[in-house]
Amino acid sequence: MSMDLIIEAKDVAKWYGAFQVLKDINLTVRKGERIVVCGPSGSGKSTLIRCFNRLEAHQQGEIIVNGITLHDKMRNVAEVRKNVGMVFQHFNLFPHMTVLMNCMVGPMWIKGLSAAEAEKTALRFLERVRIPEQANKYPVQLSGGQQQRVAIARSLCMEPAIMLFDEPTSALDPEMVSEVLDTMTSLAKDGMTMVCVTHEMGFARAVADRVIFMNSGQIVEEGNPQAFFTNPKHERTRLFLSQIL
Ligand code: ADP
Ligand code: MG
Repeated sequence: MSMDLIIEAKDVAKWYGAFQVLKDINLTVRKGERIVVCGPSGSGKSTLIRCFNRLEAHQQGEIIVNGITLHDKMRNVAEVRKNVGMVFQHFNLFPHMTVLMNCMVGPMWIKGLSAAEAEKTALRFLERVRIPEQANKYPVQLSGGQQQRVAIARSLCMEPAIMLFDEPTSALDPEMVSEVLDTMTSLAKDGMTMVCVTHEMGFARAVADRVIFMNSGQIVEEGNPQAFFTNPKHERTRLFLSQIL
């Protein structure tokens, strides 16, 4: 595997019982690439990116993440997750911990940092998402947009090789969408490797190197944003774009 490939998926297939959720997935993500994944609800977008940090297991084909092949008997799932940050639609912060602690526990428990080192790192990334002043609050005391920025900071504290975003703005009130997209755009500008499931097509146009369209568990179309939006090749892509734009 070439050094600059962060994710390599070859002929990946997955089933939930008898239902095939992923079919013939071939996708590579290079260091520094920004990829947007879109497609109708139920098309397998979340399942796909959850396979990349082994929150879900695939049954056929090969997935290599940061040089580690994912398979049933692997013993180093933690090693993979350390390198793959994930931000969810519903934030998934630890409700009983302060913002600061939310950001400290991963580096302490998984990377073995001391509390002092973890706090320094946490504050650095809370500043990075521009909410250091919220450090001692609990998640419930924050707005949705602020909670999502904490979730991003928490992932960044692990200094991952890649960040996965699963519809990070779709649970937010409309006025909070832009603060989260601005944070993501700023990460992209810093060179972060990102796979973002999102229907925010303005973000896709501004940031993505490649847009991937999924339908019924397959990658139907893939292209740079310019080609994807102005001249989609497939009828299914056109229909989808006409519904969301
Ligand atoms: P998307 O993120 O594109 O909306 P998902 O990956 O969440 O799609 O789901 C793809 C399909 O797999 C859907 O039909 C969904 O109902 C089904 N599915 C998702 N998770 C499970 C599960 N844990 N068990 C069974 N079916 C599932
Ligand atoms: Mg989803």
